[in-house]
Amino acid sequence: MSKSGLKNLKPAPKHFIRSIAENEIKNGKHDSVYTRFPPEPNGYLHLGHAKSICLNFGLAEDMSGRCNLRFDDTNPEKESTEYMESIRASVEWLGYEWDHLCYASDYFDELYDFAVELINKGLAYVDDLDAEQMREYRGTLTEAGRNSPSRERAIKENLALFERMRAGEFAAGQYVLRAKIDMSSPNIVMRDPILYRIRFAEHYRAGDKWCIYPMYDFTHCISDAVEGITHSLCTLEFQDNRELYDWILANITIKENHVGERGKALPRQIEFGRSNLEYSIASKRKLIQLVNEGFVDGWDDPRLTTLDGLKRRGYTPASIRNFCAEIGITKKDSTIEMTVLENAIRHDLEASAKRVFGVLKPLKVVLTNYPEGETEQIEVRNHPKDESMGVRAITFSRELYIDHDDFMLDPPAKFFRLGPGREVRLRYGYAITCDEVIRNEAGDVVELRCSYDPESAKGKTADGRKIKGIIHWVSAEDAVNAEVRQYDRLFNVPNPGASDDFAQELNPDSLVIFENAKLEPSILAADIHDRFQFERVGYFCFDAKDHSERKPVLNRTVSLRDTWANINK
Ligand code: ATP
Ligand code: MG
Repeated sequence: MSKSGLKNLKPAPKHFIRSIAENEIKNGKHDSVYTRFPPEPNGYLHLGHAKSICLNFGLAEDMSGRCNLRFDDTNPEKESTEYMESIRASVEWLGYEWDHLCYASDYFDELYDFAVELINKGLAYVDDLDAEQMREYRGTLTEAGRNSPSRERAIKENLALFERMRAGEFAAGQYVLRAKIDMSSPNIVMRDPILYRIRFAEHYRAGDKWCIYPMYDFTHCISDAVEGITHSLCTLEFQDNRELYDWILANITIKENHVGERGKALPRQIEFGRSNLEYSIASKRKLIQLVNEGFVDGWDDPRLTTLDGLKRRGYTPASIRNFCAEIGITKKDSTIEMTVLENAIRHDLEASAKRVFGVLKPLKVVLTNYPEGETEQIEVRNHPKDESMGVRAITFSRELYIDHDDFMLDPPAKFFRLGPGREVRLRYGYAITCDEVIRNEAGDVVELRCSYDPESAKGKTADGRKIKGIIHWVSAEDAVNAEVRQYDRLFNVPNPGASDDFAQELNPDSLVIFENAKLEPSILAADIHDRFQFERVGYFCFDAKDHSERKPVLNRTVSLRDTWANINK
């Protein structure tokens, strides 16, 4: 496990799982921690998965242990190489290194042998109840289940039937293999759970070698055990499955050197709470629906909280890891406010983003008393607090652009920006006064004629008068045209997706495109991975998919401040 080298990382949080692991190492149960992150390759990872990644990899990193990336790939119909590869890339992007890259599908032979071992011990049987009957026999929370008529089938017959299931002699659903545990257990999971079912489906790795596939509960604990995992961390909905996890491991024989390295003691499942972010979707099924029904522009739409979407939006790996550290690990599911995520990226970019000038809604300003054909180069710092980020020169000239929002025809007294007859300071430049407003036939303001005060450079005025407003600008002389995409939260409701009718819940302003933004030219010399603060506007990055030097496209990662805070009050 190597350290990621990411900057601005906060220390990992202490939590109950870490205490358990530390105690178990202290008392000699394990020599070191060994965790795993076990996604199913049936979709792209989202922020909820990041919590699990940071927990598993983070715990291993902090305790000098190890962590595997393991694909829990036992549902051939839903899984694909595309998903698997995107998941690998996302884990790497977060800066983690796995000890082993594993696939549950690599254990299919072993899993089959373990199933045979259970049959031989009289602990598993082949059943032919259909799904409806199975439900009926299972009983309820208040009522014990009933034994299936096949429960007492002879071991020899079970072995033969299981072999024939594997050989493809039966139709899907005709038979299943069940554990023989206790149909009257108060824990319904223990009422003879299914271990194997028939599925004639091509597996993205195993091809058509198999037509029977092991269930999650059977696969997961065995995968953990054969890899020598010490702590199997999962979300709360698996609490009832823990008893089955332990039962299976107690009843099979994990040999030395089976697949991985057998641990000193069997793995232990520990549950923790899920976290869901307000105003966003973190369910693969619903994400697939959003993508397939065209509500968003693919899995990496910058409004989605998939890791690919967040990456394209401009979130850094450090910001996501810090977000996970901030929300912590508890025994309860939780809902996290959007501002917690946004503050995590603000915190990172405040320190690391280069400051530049960008005008989203350009309004032309002509300085009538500035000599025609003349320009000046003004040296400015790339970061107000970090000298190591260097300086650059920006051009000042007779024609400039300011933002339309910084001008009002009839401004109220407290509007400290530009209006007819008013004076404002151009940041790093001069003070200007608006003398004349040019409008088009429709009455829209299209240009301002202003005069500048040549004695007002470097924040001072010759007569000592104070100028309250400072606005940003770019020189028309060398401004670069760009498309700027301003993203906001995708939904208007804090818990979207409850009704499956997304249309009602979408925020119509989640994407506003400024096609004619004007940016200072230094931006074209930047690296594609650079992040910027457009002063007074927000944080931005290049759109990794659509940006080119010929047609710059930038995404707004986040506003400078929380613009929703007041609206929600
Ligand atoms: P989804 O509901 O989106 O399909 P999942 O839990 O089925 O998610 P898996 O691929 O099985 O997806 O998840 C891999 C790991 O990530 C699991 O250990 C799971 O518990 C964890 N995980 C998924 N979503 C969250 C969440 N919102 N908070 C914390 N952990 C999560
Ligand atoms: Mg799952």
